[in-house]
Amino acid sequence: MRTVLLRVFLATGFVLSIACAKAPPQPPPPAPRPHLLLISLDACRADHLSVYGYGRETSPFLAELSARGTLFRHAFCNTHGTTPSHATMLSSLYQETHRIEYRAAEGENKQEAVPKRVVLLPEILKAEGYITLGVTDGGQMARGYGFDRGFVEFDDAGGGIASGTEKLLAMARRHLPSGAPLFLFLHTYSVHSPYLPPEPYRTLFGEFPHSIEPTSEALLPLANTAWRDLAQGDLDFLKAQYDGGIRHADDTLRRFFGELEADGMLDRTVAAVTADHGEEFADHGGLLHRNFLYEELLRVPLILAGPGVPAGRVEEKLAGLVDLSPTLLALAGTAPKVLMEGRDLLDPAFRGEVLFAQYGNLRYALRTRQWKYIRTTVPEGEELFDLVADPGEKNNAAAVERERARRFSKALEEWRRARPDLGAPIGKVALTPEHEKQLRALGYIQ
Ligand SMILES: [Zn+2]
Repeated sequence: MRTVLLRVFLATGFVLSIACAKAPPQPPPPAPRPHLLLISLDACRADHLSVYGYGRETSPFLAELSARGTLFRHAFCNTHGTTPSHATMLSSLYQETHRIEYRAAEGENKQEAVPKRVVLLPEILKAEGYITLGVTDGGQMARGYGFDRGFVEFDDAGGGIASGTEKLLAMARRHLPSGAPLFLFLHTYSVHSPYLPPEPYRTLFGEFPHSIEPTSEALLPLANTAWRDLAQGDLDFLKAQYDGGIRHADDTLRRFFGELEADGMLDRTVAAVTADHGEEFADHGGLLHRNFLYEELLRVPLILAGPGVPAGRVEEKLAGLVDLSPTLLALAGTAPKVLMEGRDLLDPAFRGEVLFAQYGNLRYALRTRQWKYIRTTVPEGEELFDLVADPGEKNNAAAVERERARRFSKALEEWRRARPDLGAPIGKVALTPEHEKQLRALGYIQ
């Protein structure tokens, strides 16, 4: 039968030409998968960015980036040690699940590595054909903590955001000709203590007489007593230095994105800019980042821009770092093939009305848009804040709003019970002398 038909078509050129014209058009080639760029500004609290409403002009570039994309006005880390928070960001597992630095109440929570059973985003993307390139400033983001896993190239030598962006750019340029999509990860301590940005950023926001150095070593002894022992002038000085560090990062990112654009990469790149946690400036009496769950420590910037991201949008839903990996995977056109507890933030079905955070097993928080409930395990205690009436979290309403506190406490317990058990032993970190020096400068060991 097939032969007969073929003869008919061959004998009548007209019929044959019609048949060709009616053939279904070939589908267009699929759009290349986007490059993914994830930037973590360690210890950068959202409310010190001008794009989040801060009075000093700290983030003009991030404002431009957010105009091209979506800014999440209410973004939070779900835990705030550097290692566990980045583990959550890169695995979409809560600390309650991955258990890194979990035993905070017993004071055993330092220097733990990401266990192999916690699958990290670069491992997933590498398996999907991405070329994975990472640059961190070391410290608790060094390879000894497991953060090199899944990267084709990984540099944790440190040096701050200027050298970090240069190194990442050089890596990207080496691999760009392959045509494969790239995953670029940049982590920097440039905003983190010591607050020592290069000039002109140290004096950009004013010169303040001070009797303290902005180093971690000088600030650590005051971490719990700043409310009593730190003069207002010193506090003003520290904030100006910290804000200068943010502006330095912002200006550096402007140059970095300019290079990506000149290389023709930017149009194909989904960028995410965020932080692993915030920083304290005596908001609740202390400095640096202690083990509390107040807004200055939990609230972080989150800006997405690039192919697939709505432009010029300010998103009001509550966003957690636990949601970042599923969001990036969705933008890359793939779905998680391992357990992930977060959601795709750009999925309209995800309403983002409740958020969970913790500091190990010492403190837990449940947050809605209006309320935050915090439970402390040792010594046992609870706090409840109306974030609309009391954004500074100064008035504990738990005793007044007893029924609300009881409901939130129950929801928190249910959330804890629902976490899966990975049964994964936590890896211990072996510290080299160089590594110890790095951690001391950052204030993590004394
Ligand atoms: Zn950190």
